[in-house]
Amino acid sequence: MPTTTPALADIRRKIENRARISPDEAHILWREASDDELRALATQVRARFHSPASCTYMLMRIINYTNVCVAQCDYCAFYKLPGQEGGYVLSQQQVFAKLDELLALGGDLAGFNGGFNPHLPLDYYCDLFSAIRDRYGDKLEFYALTIAEFMYLADHANLDYLAAAERLKTAGVRWITGGGSEILTEDFRRRHSKFKYTVAEYFQAQRALVDAGLRTSATMVIGFDETVEERIAHLERTRKFQDELIAAGKGDALASFLCWTYKPYFTQLGGIEIATGEYLRHLALSRIYLDNIPRIRTSVLTQNERALEGLLYGADDFDLPIEDEVTQLAGATISLNFDRLLATARTLGFTPTYRHVATGWNQPASPQLPSS
Ligand code: SF4
Repeated sequence: MPTTTPALADIRRKIENRARISPDEAHILWREASDDELRALATQVRARFHSPASCTYMLMRIINYTNVCVAQCDYCAFYKLPGQEGGYVLSQQQVFAKLDELLALGGDLAGFNGGFNPHLPLDYYCDLFSAIRDRYGDKLEFYALTIAEFMYLADHANLDYLAAAERLKTAGVRWITGGGSEILTEDFRRRHSKFKYTVAEYFQAQRALVDAGLRTSATMVIGFDETVEERIAHLERTRKFQDELIAAGKGDALASFLCWTYKPYFTQLGGIEIATGEYLRHLALSRIYLDNIPRIRTSVLTQNERALEGLLYGADDFDLPIEDEVTQLAGATISLNFDRLLATARTLGFTPTYRHVATGWNQPASPQLPSS
């Protein structure tokens, strides 16, 4: 591997010695490392957690139970304001039909993602999730909401985050994903989603979820107008939060990181999509930086077949989605040709294994966390 600068050589040595890199060093890596260097370093870190040719996947759908939302993020093509034509809320029967279809296709993971709907009380969610658990038991798992929606419904119900999390847990919920994080800097949120909670509130809610015994994930979206510094600040905050969980003996509560890319079509913010090459470099940087999170997931939803190249840049896991209205309305296209997608992973030298819910779907290949 060629050395381009002494600083880069030092960083490479640190990574090889399993030492942690700083935000400044991440910046140098981003600026100075070639694609091949980033890829090789990310592959080294990946190998701490997973055997080199292994990767895992799930077949899943996102169920957009309502598109009514008051948050008005300028990067969103999905929402309708209350009272606006086209707003909807799915009934339990409509949700069951979607879950039945998922099971028939061989999938067993659903994620719920809607909006900040002021007309939906906490009981709507509790009734829905307990009905799903009653009907399907452990045949499938579901990510009930994103943290951002969870925060809104807790506020709307006048409950603190811990109390709201406990209510959902009693209804059969086990997971709330880290969605709604996008870029975790206050300035980014002021620019694009000022009604979507501060970074401090986001982590306060995520901590309450974990304290209530729920599990969660780390997420990120790139490709808006965020700076490299903002991307690295997001990674730093994510790593620090996971450090705190590990120190509290709760590191298993956050086992994965998923980054996807902004789809700009039909949004107020607009713009053009970033190149896949930039996404892959960011995946590699994330794998290197997040040395305390075992599973790094690459986004087939927003990068299609090329997302599989992420396996060469430090990712070890991916979803094969069959639906997500939020990203589809902003330009994402979904392929149901799962055989072709899996064949692509194989062509790249990986053996994809389905993480079936019924067989310990959330166990990373190597659950040992690094000591540094
Ligand atoms: S991204 Fe989510 S919170 Fe923001 S406007 Fe769209 S649905 Fe609402």
